[in-house]
Amino acid sequence: MRKAFIFFIVLYLGYFTAKKIQSKWAEVPSKTEKVPNDSLLSLLKLDKDDYNVLLYSKANGWVHEDAIAAAKKIFPRIAQKQNWKLTVSDDSALFSTAQLSYFDVVIWNNVTGQTLDSLQRETFKNYIETGGGFVGIHGSGDDSHQWEWYDKNVIRALFSHHPMKPQFQVGTLSKIGDSLFPAAKDFPDQWKWEEEWYVFYESPKIHGSTVLYNLDESNLVMVGEQEDKQWGMGEDHPIVWYHCQEKGKVFYTAMGHKGTYYQDTLYQQLLIEAVEWAGNNSIKCN
Ligand SMILES: [Zn+2]
Repeated sequence: MRKAFIFFIVLYLGYFTAKKIQSKWAEVPSKTEKVPNDSLLSLLKLDKDDYNVLLYSKANGWVHEDAIAAAKKIFPRIAQKQNWKLTVSDDSALFSTAQLSYFDVVIWNNVTGQTLDSLQRETFKNYIETGGGFVGIHGSGDDSHQWEWYDKNVIRALFSHHPMKPQFQVGTLSKIGDSLFPAAKDFPDQWKWEEEWYVFYESPKIHGSTVLYNLDESNLVMVGEQEDKQWGMGEDHPIVWYHCQEKGKVFYTAMGHKGTYYQDTLYQQLLIEAVEWAGNNSIKCN
C-alpha cells in the first residue's frame, strides 16, 4: 500500500514537472529560431473590417511615464468615440507581418530606445512602405532609437536637444495650411502651447515632409544643457509634420511630454485627426 502510494506521488510530480518544462519551452523559443511569434493574434480577436489601431508604448530610452500613462488613458475613450478597434500593448512580439497586417495605424506613444529586434524592424519597415499608417508622439522622434532607416525615413529630422533653461516654455505654434491634410482647416492659425520643445538639426521639409505647425522661437530660450546645444532652429522650426513613406503615411508631433497635455481637447483632436489620416487608404499622398 505504502509502495503504491509513493509510486503515485512520483507519477504525479513527474507529470507536473514535465508539463512545466513543456510550457517553459513553449514560452521561450530558442534564440536561433527566426519564425515570428504570431500567437497574439488569437488573443486579440481582430477583424480586418474594423479600423484597427495599435497603441505601442515601449520605452527603452527616456521613459515619459506620465505622458505614456495619460495617452493610455485617453486613447481608449477616443477609440470608442471614433469607432476604432484599439489594441494597447507594449509587446514588440506584435511586430510580425501577420499581426501588423491587421492594423490600419500603429501609434508610437513616446517610444524611445531600441524596442524592436532586427527582424521586427524589417517587418515594421515593410508594413509602413506597403501602406501602413504611423503616428509618432514626442519621444518617438528623439535620437535614442539607433535605427538609421527610422530616423531618415519615418521621422526625417534628426533630434539635437531640448531647452533646459527652462525645460518647459509656453510658445506659439503657427499653422502652415496644406490641403493634403484634410483637418488642417479645423485647427487654429496660432496655437499657444507649453512644451519641452524639441530642436532638430534640420527641417524634415528638406526631405519632403509637409509641416503643419512651426514654432515661433522669438520669445523662447532654446539653450540646451550641453555646451554644443546652445542653439535653436531660427525661423523654420517644425513641430508637427507628415509625409508618405512609399505607400505608407507618417504623421509626427513633437508635442506630448507631460501627462497633463493629453487632457487638452485640441491636442486630443490633433491625435484623432492624425490617426484618421494615417490609416485612410482613400487619401493619396502623391
Ligand atoms: Zn520629453
